[in-house]
Amino acid sequence: MKKGIGVSKGYAVGKAYVIGADVSLHFKETAGNPVVEADRLTKALELSRKQIEAIVEKAHEKMDVKNVKIIESHLNFLEDPAFTGEAFNKIKQESVSAEKAISDITQTLYNTFSAFEDGYMKERAADIRDVGSRILRNLTGRSRETDFAGLPAGTVVFAHDLKPSDTAQIDKERIFAFVTETGGATSHTAILAKALGIPAVVGCRDILADVRGGDTVIVDGVSGEVLVRPDADLIKKYWTLKKQFNQKKEEGKQTIGRKICFQDGRRILIAANIGGIKDIEAAVKSGAEGVGLFRTEFLYMNRASMPTEEEQFRIYREAAELLEGRPLTIRTLDIGGDKSLPYLVMDKESNPFLGLRAIRLCLQNPDLFQTQLRAILRASAFGNIQIMFPMISCMEELNRAKDVLNTCKLQLEREGVRFCSSIPTGMMIEIPSAALTAEEFAKQVDFFSIGTNDLTQYTLAVDRMNESISDLYNPLHPAVLRLIQMTISAAHQSGIPCCLCGELASSEQAIPLLMEYGLDEFSVSPGMIAETRNTLLQCIVHKGEQSL
Ligand code: PEP
Ligand code: MG
Repeated sequence: MKKGIGVSKGYAVGKAYVIGADVSLHFKETAGNPVVEADRLTKALELSRKQIEAIVEKAHEKMDVKNVKIIESHLNFLEDPAFTGEAFNKIKQESVSAEKAISDITQTLYNTFSAFEDGYMKERAADIRDVGSRILRNLTGRSRETDFAGLPAGTVVFAHDLKPSDTAQIDKERIFAFVTETGGATSHTAILAKALGIPAVVGCRDILADVRGGDTVIVDGVSGEVLVRPDADLIKKYWTLKKQFNQKKEEGKQTIGRKICFQDGRRILIAANIGGIKDIEAAVKSGAEGVGLFRTEFLYMNRASMPTEEEQFRIYREAAELLEGRPLTIRTLDIGGDKSLPYLVMDKESNPFLGLRAIRLCLQNPDLFQTQLRAILRASAFGNIQIMFPMISCMEELNRAKDVLNTCKLQLEREGVRFCSSIPTGMMIEIPSAALTAEEFAKQVDFFSIGTNDLTQYTLAVDRMNESISDLYNPLHPAVLRLIQMTISAAHQSGIPCCLCGELASSEQAIPLLMEYGLDEFSVSPGMIAETRNTLLQCIVHKGEQSL
């Protein structure tokens, strides 16, 4: 049994599909003709060589010599008798497929290198896995991105890491859970898992050394435990837990339609965090009273070019219409940090979370920013839309963002295009400097939304992605709580509402506190709406208040 961080509740029993080591389910293990298999392997090695050489050539332009040498070393693996040489032997002697030969040897060498104490040798394990995985992809003709496409129902995906763009492609009908070796509780990969409502464990170190494609596995998204090749009793126990969990989830839905309100007329709204239109149905079904955070960056991922103004306009309009008058808070593009776009060239940064991210990137790319703002404005004629700027750290940034918005409004006016000229415009409070000066900001915007995922990492200097310091990542730290409290009171002093859309909004421990601070809106992933509502309902009953 290995333990990581349970980031999306629930239990899964399924078959492992391993990305990286790529000892996958999806190839034939035996082969009829060893000559054909050897030929296939030769071709796949040649293709791999070309690919690596192209990467090396590019790397020379961007990386230092040391890092280029690491990639160059992958070329040597292609000719290593202990690796590919051994694979050819296996094909000949055991009549296995080329995939099976490469996959077995990759796993054996990976285990050998991982067992070394020496850091250099340990790192070779990752290299071997990388090369093995490339050869396998070339053999099967599957790219890493399309690997998910043909997976059968009941698959549990294991990977060293999953990019948010990978996770966004997961189809929950077939993929029952995933486990990664890296990542923290509020990494975007974890957030997406929650939105999908599939159990997930991240930061499960060295799990790839234990698991092989096709193994039966159990994922406990509550405790963070991952069990490989469990016995029949354990499987039975987890099927029961899964059943009970789902039953509880269903029970939670019985409070749909109940509103959180106090005797003095004060209301608390429960809204949803979404990554695309497909999340709206689940959100509304669970009783969301609006969308408190639309992470628009996911519209820009998994495609070859930037979405046009027209494409975005259609999506925002459809989202607003699906919500039938409920508010839709569209956050402008938040790329950078752990999220990148294949078609947007960005320099390598040593601290991407402190670098060119979100509003900073938009302000440096006016065309990109204006395209999105125009699309949002146009859609505002068709529903209850509000705009939200992420990662604001100083007043100048907010002013510049508002200037671009005004320019777009003027353009549309001149063009005679309809939009809501008084569209509510708010900002995220997710940087300590913004929380500390919230009084000034509150006079300049229509609403706040506190992003505790980032506010925690920036206040405590703890990378939200780094599993090795995940015990220090504590959104309930008094410093973070004080910043939240300050932000809410600053908002109320200026008469504007304050939402919280970080993961903390659905924490059972935090909800009573946030309610006491006077938070107006809890925006949580669709899968957590029922639970959040139930916790809030319990709190107000406890206070002798009533719900509608
Ligand atoms: C946050 O930082 O809390 C937030 C909601 O934004 P994201 O997780 O997308 O950075
Ligand atoms: Mg954030």
